[in-house]
Amino acid sequence: MIKAVRGTRDLLPPETALWNFVEATVREVFRAYNFQEIRTPIFEETQLFARGVGEETDIVSKEMYTWEDRGRAASEKGQSLTLRPENTAGVVRAYIEHKLGDRGLNKLYYIGPQFRRERPQKGRYRQFYQIGAEVIGPASSGSDKPVRDAEILEMLATLLDRLGIRNWNLEINSVGNAQERVAFNDALRKALEPVAASMCADCQRRATTNPLRVLDCKVPEDQPIIEKLPRITDYLQEESTRHFADVRALLESAGVPFQVNPRLVRGLDYYTRTAFEFTHGALGAQNAILGGGRYDGLSEALGGPPAPGIGFAMGEDRLVLALQEQTPNIVKAPDAYIAPMGAGTNQAAIGLAKALRQAGLVIDLGDESFRLKKSFETASKLGARFILIVGENEVRSGEFALKNLATGEQTTVPRAELAAKLQAS
Ligand code: ATP
Ligand code: MG
Repeated sequence: MIKAVRGTRDLLPPETALWNFVEATVREVFRAYNFQEIRTPIFEETQLFARGVGEETDIVSKEMYTWEDRGRAASEKGQSLTLRPENTAGVVRAYIEHKLGDRGLNKLYYIGPQFRRERPQKGRYRQFYQIGAEVIGPASSGSDKPVRDAEILEMLATLLDRLGIRNWNLEINSVGNAQERVAFNDALRKALEPVAASMCADCQRRATTNPLRVLDCKVPEDQPIIEKLPRITDYLQEESTRHFADVRALLESAGVPFQVNPRLVRGLDYYTRTAFEFTHGALGAQNAILGGGRYDGLSEALGGPPAPGIGFAMGEDRLVLALQEQTPNIVKAPDAYIAPMGAGTNQAAIGLAKALRQAGLVIDLGDESFRLKKSFETASKLGARFILIVGENEVRSGEFALKNLATGEQTTVPRAELAAKLQAS
């Protein structure tokens, strides 16, 4: 038997209703902040991620699905292509390619699948879904200002509240600008020299290649060492320090609760200044629902104009897991199951079903060949509130037997009153 590939999954009803609820709420909330949707391709040139995400990141160094495409002629070498592991690089590529900055399109959001070859577990898949938004534009559009950071964090807090996600936590930090990071990286490298040998294999490698990443390590034995490493906030110059202070003050004004976590660094190379993460207690080891931050240098790193930006990516799978803990099923039961009884009654039944559906009711329809017993069994398996019998007598008289499946109460209702009766009860 052929099964879904490891790390991928089918999203089935009723869970898909939660996905739709999440996406509808996202669209409504983001729209209120004047974001508009962008849809970028699912695969891109490998170079985009190598440059936009960073060669040294886990994503690029070990998690990407990359292949060589066939060239146009047999002799021609094909392009290296990659299934997108994240969407910010694609959005910024599109921003540059279509000169979106010139058109004032500075606030974009996306919803869609991403692909990473990771060890699958609860809340961690090889095809997973992200919801993200980016504010990007020339500095003249104010895209570098602390108010953008605070506004996006306030929007996220509002979204999680609107979704009914309870007990979320917001942690923020500033990772400084490129120069400040150089100084901090040097300090880290120095501090790591005498201790790196006793750390995990990944940290031993990171200690020389990209010491900032050591702060990201999740290995418990490494934590006491990491606790004693220098803090980025001590390496921020005046401007970054002020930017971070302004973001915090604005969050307080907007009533968004947060904690400063000086160890928080994002896994991607292009982040500058504000970095943040929302976590949720019910998710176990995979407790990060979303992460994001500022990436003032990304557009230039991809060959575009200077365009400071800030954005986030939210794990939709994890969001739905958190919602499922609270409300596993939000699907409304069918209002009625229509049971045609006897040869020729399908004709009246399909017309009746159409009229009731147009009145906004959820109707399921049987078939005239079903016996009464089978119709009742089907109606209760579907969880219908009522069963409506459409027999030859009913069709002739225009009055129908309507039975409430919960109470067993049965009434006779004229055709013209059916919709109102079903809506009222
Ligand atoms: P983690 O530390 O959990 O691997 P990350 O730093 O790799 O997260 P990002 O690249 O910042 O995550 O992606 C943003 C969000 O996307 C995460 O907070 C998480 O909710 C979700 N996410 C990332 N990878 C996966 C995955 N493999 N399966 C499901 N959701 C994921
Ligand atoms: Mg990861």
